[in-house]
Amino acid sequence: MSTTQRAERQITTSVLVIGTGGAGLRASIELAERGVQVLAVGKRRKHDAHTTLAAGGINAALATMDPEDSWQQHAADTLRESYFLADPEIVETVTKNAARGIEDLERWGMPFAREEDGRISQRFFGAHTYRRTAYAGDYTGLEIQRTLLRRARELDVPIIDTVYITRILVSAGVVFGAYGFDVVDGTPVVIHADAVIIAAGGHNRIWRYTSSRRDENTGDSFRLAALAGGKIRDAELVQFHPSGILEPTEVAGTLVSEAARGEGGILTNALGERFMDKYDPERMELSTRDRVALANYTEIAEGRGTEKGGVYLDVSHLPRETIMEKLPRLYRTMIDLQMLDITTTPMEVAPTAHYSMGGVWVAPEDHGTGVDGLYAIGEASSGLHGANRLGGNSLIELLVYGRLTGESAAEYTRGLTSIHRDPAAVAEARAEMDALLAPESADGAESARVLQRAIRDLMTEHAGVVRTEEGLSAGLAKLAELEERAARVTAHPDIAGFDDLAHAFDLKGSLLAARATLECALERRETRGCHNRADFPEQSEALRGNFLWSPTEGVSFEPLPAAPEEWRALAEAHLDDSPAGKLVE
Ligand SMILES: Cc1cc2nc3c(=O)[nH]c(=O)nc-3n(C[C@H](O)[C@H](O)[C@H](O)COP(=O)(O)OP(=O)(O)OC[C@H]3O[C@@H](n4cnc5c(N)ncnc54)[C@H](O)[C@@H]3O)c2cc1C
Repeated sequence: MSTTQRAERQITTSVLVIGTGGAGLRASIELAERGVQVLAVGKRRKHDAHTTLAAGGINAALATMDPEDSWQQHAADTLRESYFLADPEIVETVTKNAARGIEDLERWGMPFAREEDGRISQRFFGAHTYRRTAYAGDYTGLEIQRTLLRRARELDVPIIDTVYITRILVSAGVVFGAYGFDVVDGTPVVIHADAVIIAAGGHNRIWRYTSSRRDENTGDSFRLAALAGGKIRDAELVQFHPSGILEPTEVAGTLVSEAARGEGGILTNALGERFMDKYDPERMELSTRDRVALANYTEIAEGRGTEKGGVYLDVSHLPRETIMEKLPRLYRTMIDLQMLDITTTPMEVAPTAHYSMGGVWVAPEDHGTGVDGLYAIGEASSGLHGANRLGGNSLIELLVYGRLTGESAAEYTRGLTSIHRDPAAVAEARAEMDALLAPESADGAESARVLQRAIRDLMTEHAGVVRTEEGLSAGLAKLAELEERAARVTAHPDIAGFDDLAHAFDLKGSLLAARATLECALERRETRGCHNRADFPEQSEALRGNFLWSPTEGVSFEPLPAAPEEWRALAEAHLDDSPAGKLVE
């Protein structure tokens, strides 16, 4: 059944926001408050966006607990943690505007944890100089999502959370909307819009173990932006969390909170050795996230892992009451997912892809992508985190740039004097969908799910925690085979809906994101933060900058401007990155 046989649904709005997680909702609210017509779309239920998984908290130098804190110190901590790879202007914008982001949430009823006198409580998060992470129990992301949805409802923001966007529509370098389909009934959708904001998340679902669920973070943002003429920055910079569970397969990579180590959890290999003394004898299991991820990876890679390919994380020596009081969510999750009682039995864990620090290239002032009328925000974008993300910075980035980009898109649309349209761009998007829905070709159809799994295996083997020139090159050769097989993928919608078509497009996003990641990782011939090159173990000053990637031009390098001296001094004055008491997600 081709789209030409199915009526296309035509929608017109002033600004289209792709994504109904924290970033997309915050931008939509800003637009609605400014009286601009906005439509937000998402490919999964709005109450269940990835943002709801965020647990530990959201940063702003409110100084409610530590009066010495300041936005400058927050900026310095962010920069240091980024291995000086963050864009200083983006860092300044986020840290300066963070308090406003929290105020907005407060005004809209966010139930932040508070001290007895009513101050917002703030706790430590790894690598922060002061307590500046505000939170709502273990459910900060869920409460933010609920708060933003409530505000969006008050403003009557239209949200369609069953629309999968497959292409951004561009006419002579100017955006004029997007093309997609309804995942429930397959209706093709043409959305005409004067500006489009991509808030569709990152690409960490392309690894075997990942803290993203099945249809999240499949690289859609990368593909949408890159095919529209944007560029991807530092795709190779992906944060690996040290401990994700191995089973069951559908949820492999689900996080075991760092709080398990914080409370006294012990890591051992299959030989029963407590191995952290080889990697960080002073701090042992309380070492930093990137070091523990590297240690777990090395034990497994060098053959001392368990049969299933993990290491053991054990809290069973702790008193049962401590576990039930301090790690209740983990206790419940392990019973639910594996019927494993952590008060008696060790867990098996491995490093898991957790956060895309790289993403769509954006300008610091408005998060424009360089394509007129196209913006990117949230985990889809890049520039704040460099080679390592300061915990809690992701959520505040959604709030700050959600607001500012909403404001910029509003101004942009108000300033337009003509409407752009290009039937050829619509026809191209339509043809792409038709090709996937066409009958199988004679030389045999391929399954999107099978190829998606193959990408995840490939990326785990060739672009995991530790990388080499040889491994990355071999990964690229395997990827070329998968790209060739992907040309034969067909989708078979059934009575249950159009998930199969969604998987086929997820695959396209993942293939593009994998290529960008492998090609940039190959060029970053240094070890910096999350990016470990066994063949280039040192950090290179010459590579203090960003790798930009596009499907047509490949990789290029752009040096970064120096950060203000004041921040460098602040960053260097506080080199204590002891994570004691700071391990939460
Ligand atoms: C377990 C866990 C704990 C975390 N804890 C913290 C924390 O304590 N503090 C912190 O700062 N960060 C934390 N993070 C990170 C943080 O949650 C995310 O970075 C952030 O929520 C991303 O928000 P977003 O709005 O950019 O994207 P998302 O919330 O991922 O939303 C993306 C949206 O885009 C839509 N979409 C995607 N593709 C398409 C498409 N093709 N068409 C239409 N719609 C599409 C999706 O349906 C969704 O609505 C955590 C992450 C995890 C997994």
